[in-house]
Amino acid sequence: MLSKNVEEALNAQINAEFWSAYLYLSMAAYFEAEGKSGFANWFKVQFKEEQAHAEIFMNYLNSRGGRINLRPIDAVPTTWNSPLDVFKETLAHEQKVTALINNLYAISEEEKDYATRSMLTWFIDEQVEEEENAQEYIDHLKLIGDNGYGLYQLDKELATRVYNVPAPLATKE
Ligand code: MG
Repeated sequence: MLSKNVEEALNAQINAEFWSAYLYLSMAAYFEAEGKSGFANWFKVQFKEEQAHAEIFMNYLNSRGGRINLRPIDAVPTTWNSPLDVFKETLAHEQKVTALINNLYAISEEEKDYATRSMLTWFIDEQVEEEENAQEYIDHLKLIGDNGYGLYQLDKELATRVYNVPAPLATKE
């Protein structure tokens, strides 16, 4: 049986994951409008991953007999100054998500909820990757500066990203 604290924290995390999805979808729309379809593709994949994260938490809540409580999703930014600006915001956002996951882990420890703690380890590893990816593109974009050919090449590279169903969902289906 889930404690009320853990149930509430998981519901808050579901909302945070949907907010992340919404943020990345907004970034994809921004890049589409800017004629950078490769960047847009990368953020669309990111959007799908965040939706999957929300679903993983929803499946988990269900499996533990908790109640899912979907809440309104707050508005997201709609415009940025540059691709570098977008990836800087992505990194800052992922750092916030890491803190949320860590907090969730701390709550599950306080409540001696070892199943929730175990489920969260996948997310802890995932956050390392999320922050690393954002940092990698910040580094690339700093090197590129305002070199048009560099941006063109990076756009082509980002166009190749494909969505893979995250492991906890893949094994569920
Ligand atoms: Mg996420």
